[in-house]
Amino acid sequence: DRVKVRRALLSVSDKTGLVDFARALADRGVELVSTGGTRKAIADAGLPVKDISELTGFPEMMDGRVKTLHPIVHGGLLGVRDAPEHKAAMEAHGIGAIDLVYVNLYPFEATAAAGGDYETCVENIDIGGPAMIRSAAKNHGYVAICTEPADMQEVVDGMAEDGATSLDLRKRLAARAYARTAAYDAAISQWFAGQLGEAAPARRAFAGELVQTMRYGENPHQAAAFYRFPNPRTGVATATQLQGKELSYNNINDTDAAFELIAEFDPGKGPACAIIKHANPCGVATGGSLREAYERALACDPTSAFGGIVALNTRLDAATAEKVLEIFTEVVIAPGADEDAVALFRKKKNVRLLVTEGLPDPTAPGEVFRSVSGGFLVQGRDAARLTPADLKVVTKRAPTEAEVRDMLFAFTIAKHVKSNAIVYAKDGQTLGVGAGQMNRKDSARIAALRAADFGLDLTGSACASEAFFPFPDGLLQAADAGCTAVIQPGGSIGDDKVIAAADERGLAMVFTGVRVFRH
Ligand code: 5GP
Repeated sequence: DRVKVRRALLSVSDKTGLVDFARALADRGVELVSTGGTRKAIADAGLPVKDISELTGFPEMMDGRVKTLHPIVHGGLLGVRDAPEHKAAMEAHGIGAIDLVYVNLYPFEATAAAGGDYETCVENIDIGGPAMIRSAAKNHGYVAICTEPADMQEVVDGMAEDGATSLDLRKRLAARAYARTAAYDAAISQWFAGQLGEAAPARRAFAGELVQTMRYGENPHQAAAFYRFPNPRTGVATATQLQGKELSYNNINDTDAAFELIAEFDPGKGPACAIIKHANPCGVATGGSLREAYERALACDPTSAFGGIVALNTRLDAATAEKVLEIFTEVVIAPGADEDAVALFRKKKNVRLLVTEGLPDPTAPGEVFRSVSGGFLVQGRDAARLTPADLKVVTKRAPTEAEVRDMLFAFTIAKHVKSNAIVYAKDGQTLGVGAGQMNRKDSARIAALRAADFGLDLTGSACASEAFFPFPDGLLQAADAGCTAVIQPGGSIGDDKVIAAADERGLAMVFTGVRVFRH
């Protein structure tokens, strides 16, 4: 099942490494055939190479839209060498077999990501390239198809002894090749949807580019990998790791939760810090300085913060770095880091430090995914954002200005807590977080217990519930704990009873009309 490589077709937009591969093939006596730009690059290096039009008898035409779409090319790619009929057709029509193809596509993804105009993006939809990739991959019994320099390196290495490729390698290359064309078409479909402003993620293909395969997933017996969309938002998928061990599956998942949360805090309004554990916030705070914000976030739950993820909304400075390094932290992520802060981190080599260019826009559209057995769910991102004007006071007592601030702060954080979520907060600091319970009353109780554990006083605090209180019990729990202002979506058939209970306790309560579940 080894196939000797006699003729190779090279047609690449990204010409990185091209000349080296062409030389390695030419040295083995492989005949090289190429399209315009690729041919020129190879010829300029002094290597023998034929133009594809010499084979087809047709020139490249229509701005390159038609260059390799010809039976001479596709017959050479698709012909089954030992099928008598195929052989006869190849002979009758003067079709020569092609044994190796190296194609990388017009840079559609990069063009769209760079904000190319409509015409430019459309012109960057490669047609002949994917056609050749698919033809060659289908005929992997005879043809090796490469779409990346790493593939070519593997082929050249594999040819070392006898100038041939193995069936096993050709199959692996075919699998990668179809992944490439699928991702390419998915990127084009995504771009169109964006141009049309379509919100509904219907009749769309999704595919990502492999960023990293991991040693394991959520647990050591699970395989895992990390993919990036063609047009990623600023965030974990585009972060640069300055130091520390490789990011694990859980690191990436938790760091994403941390960074999405902290992006809710406009750096123009002052520094903020979130500490996340297992994708739930264990402390979030603002402060006069970034270090102070970190200290206040840590104070909310220093026990859970151990081995957590720290996310900052402004550049990491040395004063904050010094404090963060006092306890064990898995990952720190920030939109930039000062040189002296980075120097401090170098002394703790295992801590992963990630920097990004800016913060993700929390109101930007996009999709989020969740797997179900046999498929996956897609929904729009939760881009909900509230202002004081969105709040409807439902109690006799209206909240004070400070209570409104605390309520909005608490509700913003509740949006990033697994349901059922209860968050107590005051003066830009979480005081207790109750996450992921199966009833709201327990979340309210756990949040209060945490506050008590760490000596935090809930008197006069605000309480946020990410979904409505169906009964007064959860609200009474919060009132017992000392909170005086409650923010919740409202909309329960039990609203009247809940409002009456709030009035009886002298609470101020507002309805948001917006629910922010996170299951
Ligand atoms: P070159 O730089 O060699 O002129 O062009 C290489 C690029 O052209 C590759 O990215 C390849 O995928 C693409 N390509 C090859 N044949 C065709 C074709 O027939 N139509 C279109 N649209 N692109 C092609």
